[in-house]
Amino acid sequence: MPDTHDVTQSALLLLKEMIKNACVNDLTADSGHEVRNADTLERFFAGSGARVQRFEPHPGRVSIAFTVEGSDPSAEPLTLLGHTDVVPVDEAKWSVDPFAAEEIDGRIYGRGSTDMLYITAAMAAVTREVAFSDTPPRGTLTFVGCADEEARGGLGAGWLAKHAGEAFSWRNCLSEEGGSHLPVADGSDALVVVVGEKGAAQRRLHIHGDAGHGSTPYGRESTVALISEVARRVVALEPEVRADELWEGYVRAFRFDPDTERALIDGHNYAALDDLARYSHAMSHLTVAPTVLRAGSAINVLPSAAYLELDIRPLPGQTQEEIDDLLRTALGDLADRVEIEHLITEDATVSPASGPLYDALVATLEEFFPGVPVVPTIAAGGSDLRFGRRKGGVGYGFALHRRGNTLGTVLDLLHSHDEYVEVEDVELTTLAYRSLVRRFLGA
Ligand SMILES: [Zn+2]
Repeated sequence: MPDTHDVTQSALLLLKEMIKNACVNDLTADSGHEVRNADTLERFFAGSGARVQRFEPHPGRVSIAFTVEGSDPSAEPLTLLGHTDVVPVDEAKWSVDPFAAEEIDGRIYGRGSTDMLYITAAMAAVTREVAFSDTPPRGTLTFVGCADEEARGGLGAGWLAKHAGEAFSWRNCLSEEGGSHLPVADGSDALVVVVGEKGAAQRRLHIHGDAGHGSTPYGRESTVALISEVARRVVALEPEVRADELWEGYVRAFRFDPDTERALIDGHNYAALDDLARYSHAMSHLTVAPTVLRAGSAINVLPSAAYLELDIRPLPGQTQEEIDDLLRTALGDLADRVEIEHLITEDATVSPASGPLYDALVATLEEFFPGVPVVPTIAAGGSDLRFGRRKGGVGYGFALHRRGNTLGTVLDLLHSHDEYVEVEDVELTTLAYRSLVRRFLGA
């Protein structure tokens, strides 16, 4: 069996190759070209004996699964979901080539290095090591290189869950991110595990006013003024804090003084959380963000229709009906003039901070950072884990960072210019997955 050095080295080499493959997903079906990373992964696993399954719902959008069959059919299986696509770059804003995977001062630069190719590479390297081993694991291990995560998985994990649901187990899944540190007020440490993610409640609000010639506006109701008022009322919306167990546990983990702690639990004083203020607000609230506004096309024509699009992210338990009620209340006397159209709607998903897989995660973190408390969190954005949770399985975001790399640092790197990952974090994540797989599957 390869030694520790081999498994971390192979993860690093694989990471660099996947960055260079530049599987950029611009949200259109013909982008992504994840076939390149799928081919790289298939070569990486060559001769390992792992069972290979390829899925191509649209030309070039290849997801690929590698399965190592367990020796005990009654043992719990484990599935590692790593996405292989990356988001586009604004090349002018980068100081390095985003697809060259340059290693500078202990960092590997490149689009997707943090989101999430280093975890995908760690998962692949560990699965390959298990596949090459003489003794099979007790439970079945599957690693899936998923296409299209950045466009919500319709040609990746979402497609697999719907059209190839039996190809591998969705019972115990791991994916991005997690394993970063909280900047605890007393200088001690805390580690993050992602147990859930917010949903989507995208809305398009339509309103109508009077059409006419731009030269004779007198006596006409301005559609532009109406949609502006709609936007103003929506922005003024202040949903209440969701002070549940997860939020309280997260706030307490920072070990603030009692006044600060109380204020935060009640949804005030987010500034105390510094670079985590925005994320923490999102973790504890339904968020409503107007992002697109359209009215008119020619300067001399009064438009009769306008719309405003809202990026709304519900927490676990918040329903689509609840959100429409909230919008109608905020619109007040304009409510019956506004038509609320639903775009993408997906409820939030969450797995329990308990159970065999969660316990194995906690035990693994304890091995690398003894005595450091583990804090379950909800991700503000999406991941492929929600498909497993909807199929009745559990899903957690798992990786591992060195002590100085806080949750704020990692969140800031996602989709950023000059995105990088530290070599040390690639190694730690690989070793953490290796330990977790052995612990959970009896490999
Ligand atoms: Zn990602």
